[in-house]
Amino acid sequence: MRKPKLRELKFAIEALIKGPYTSKFPKTPPVVPEHFRGVPTYVPDDCVGCGACGQVCPAGAITIVDEYREDKKRMVRRIERNWGNCIMCSQCFVYCITKKGIVLDKDFDKSTTDTADFIDTQDKELLFCEHCGSPVTTVDHVRWCTDKLGELAYANQTFMVARHKALNLATDTAPRSAERPLDRGDFMRVLCPNCRASYILSDEWGES
Ligand code: SF4
Ligand code: SF4
Repeated sequence: MRKPKLRELKFAIEALIKGPYTSKFPKTPPVVPEHFRGVPTYVPDDCVGCGACGQVCPAGAITIVDEYREDKKRMVRRIERNWGNCIMCSQCFVYCITKKGIVLDKDFDKSTTDTADFIDTQDKELLFCEHCGSPVTTVDHVRWCTDKLGELAYANQTFMVARHKALNLATDTAPRSAERPLDRGDFMRVLCPNCRASYILSDEWGES
């Protein structure tokens, strides 16, 4: 057996006196720096379902889809996060529009024997276009936008109508035939950007 070098012998003696250099994780929880980026934690009450986090996630850990619920009766926005794919880059935290929908905690250890533990999902109610029926965005997202915009929200008819409905100031929706093209009577309705733009263009320039 070769004799240990003096330097290694010195380290060994130091370790005997001072203790090992390595931490005793997982027996002893590690002490992480103050601004450590741990696993993002989702805060359902502060998420409005805008989808920004899903668009910026480079690892594809966040999926946002508008789909029918299991009972097939109602379409919702489903936000699914798979923390098993997360690379802890913090982009979702940085770009969350409410700044509170996702927080970074100090936890980095998500070890599990069941991959289902990595996944959490949340459904958000959607707001639908009264003309074509396609989803506009989530109800919570509209509420957050109108709160943020204040009186400026009245410049957008969809925001205004949705807000009045949320406040029970507009309780009924006037019926309209799906076949009838949009006209001025539809201006004060919840419309998706495509329907509103096509209506405004046809009102201004006539049918193409
Ligand atoms: S920290 Fe990065 S990888 Fe993880 S969910 Fe957020 S954006 Fe995606
Ligand atoms: S960016 Fe924030 S508010 Fe928007 S869906 Fe993600 S967590 Fe929710």
